[in-house]
Amino acid sequence: MTTLGEALRAGTERLLAAGSETARLDAELLLAHALETDRTAVLAHPEAPLGPAQVAAYESELARRSAGEPVAYIRGLKEFYGLAFGVDARALIPRPDTELLVDLGISRAVAALTGMWRRASGPLRVVDVGTGAGAVAVAFTVTLRRRGYGRVLDVLATDASAEALALATENAVVHGAADLVRFRQADLLPADEPPFELVLANLPYVPSEEVDRLPVAASFEPRAALDGGPDGLGAIGRLLALLPSRLAEDGSAFVEIGAHQVASVERLADEMLPGWGASVHLDLGGEPRVMEARRAG
Ligand code: GLN
Repeated sequence: MTTLGEALRAGTERLLAAGSETARLDAELLLAHALETDRTAVLAHPEAPLGPAQVAAYESELARRSAGEPVAYIRGLKEFYGLAFGVDARALIPRPDTELLVDLGISRAVAALTGMWRRASGPLRVVDVGTGAGAVAVAFTVTLRRRGYGRVLDVLATDASAEALALATENAVVHGAADLVRFRQADLLPADEPPFELVLANLPYVPSEEVDRLPVAASFEPRAALDGGPDGLGAIGRLLALLPSRLAEDGSAFVEIGAHQVASVERLADEMLPGWGASVHLDLGGEPRVMEARRAG
């Protein structure tokens, strides 16, 4: 008879041997998933026995994780901004770093909606470009609705991938935001949408050559969601080029970037957005993570 405690120890060793850097945590999450419970319950009852079906479920998850598959895909779930998002190979797994993009978007939206300088009337026009699993658009919308801003938002979420949009829509439904977020398949911004007051974007920005050097877990994610072309800035550059015509006069764009891309993104912004103001926001780890662009003056 195997107990939960023994299963955790054995699973941790197996995942360590397979090269996981978070073997103990992985084992806890996978065991909890196999038992259809949460991590706390697993930790609280190390003496509890496991049935044969549970052992089999856990074993098959350990095998998948040992082959490099991310825990989030095995669980079908990733926590982001305090919400649980359904995830699978249709879209990139939301990263904790990207919560900064949501924070900045929310602050900016509240400032625009409560400030006196806003030019437009009616709902604030927001777009999440390259929404993937929908994490940014849904977290943004759910949080602002909770604060009472639901009716003054018009949120669009785009993605080039129809599969990603299907997943994002499922996530919006689960979180009760499907009535507030419109999903459209598009390369960056659909041509027929009026200008946006707030643009949020987590586009692919990893240089092509570096994609293959990412941890093996990333090879399970859609390459198109990571690969930003030779210098990593292909998609970001194309978005910046659209901003002069697609961002409202008093609008702001927040674009996630890689920590080592500050200088090259600033050069790109100088080129595509001459005379605009650009600044960089640091994530919780103190790394540059989001570039903000707005028309100066
Ligand atoms: N931060 C992600 C990674 O390193 C990259 C995400 C992206 O390209 N948007 O895996």
